[in-house]
Amino acid sequence: MAKLEIINLHVEIEGKEILKGVNLSVNSGEVHAIMGPNGTGKSTLASALMGHPKYEVTAGEAYLDGENILDMEVDERARAGLFLAMQYPAEVPGVTNSDFMRQAVRATSGKDIGLFEFAVSYEKQVEELKMRPDLAHRYLNEGFSGGERKRNEILQLKVLKPKFAILDEIDSGLDVDALKIVGENVSSLVNSEFGCILITHYQRILDHIKPTNVHIMIDGKIVLSGGQELIEKIDQNGYLWIKDELGIDY
Ligand code: ADP
Ligand code: MG
Ligand code: MG
Repeated sequence: MAKLEIINLHVEIEGKEILKGVNLSVNSGEVHAIMGPNGTGKSTLASALMGHPKYEVTAGEAYLDGENILDMEVDERARAGLFLAMQYPAEVPGVTNSDFMRQAVRATSGKDIGLFEFAVSYEKQVEELKMRPDLAHRYLNEGFSGGERKRNEILQLKVLKPKFAILDEIDSGLDVDALKIVGENVSSLVNSEFGCILITHYQRILDHIKPTNVHIMIDGKIVLSGGQELIEKIDQNGYLWIKDELGIDY
């Protein structure tokens, strides 16, 4: 079993405090949904955990299996078992998708996986995600539609097999069919060796990936945690009632 533990995390962007003390503990086998209004710091949490240079951690700690990931370089975090799907995945012209993935496997696992072995596993994942088979030979994300990029992130996740993934709005830009495929593929990964944090603005994706825990982030803090009953409540009533109930005003 693996454990990701975030303690009192404070993060600033360009001198402005965005995260104001986030506490979150995720075990492998669990799916934690983080929901909340736009601009409350959900993506900031993802970027800070992955070590984006623009995000300055001013206080707090984050441990993956007892190791302080905040002390690590970005590539070390990936090697320690953290995976981040970006909200806006970048294009990398000149590097084919399969080359990139094989390189990434090599970099994170430290093992040189044979071309044939890699190709077999890669093709299988492409098929399971119902992606276009020519995708392997295309340049990374170049000319990919929004939905194809999202699926490609899940492909990376399946190929890299990290301990924890932070998936930030993987549902944006996906049509209902793609949403189902992506949701089922992520769900199938959750086991005693893998857990995930699912950041989402809407509840749609949560029809396909049932979270074990649901957290509401407002103004840089997790203000409410519970189970799936919270999803329905937010779907029906939005977020304003939480502010009222907890006496948050801003
Ligand atoms: P969410 O993902 O919950 O919608 P974000 O984490 O993206 O929220 O943003 C939280 C706050 O931080 C917002 O006020 C946003 O404008 C600000 N912010 C996010 N990224 C940057 C950045 N790169 N530079 C300056 N401000 C930023
Ligand atoms: Mg946003
Ligand atoms: Mg966001």
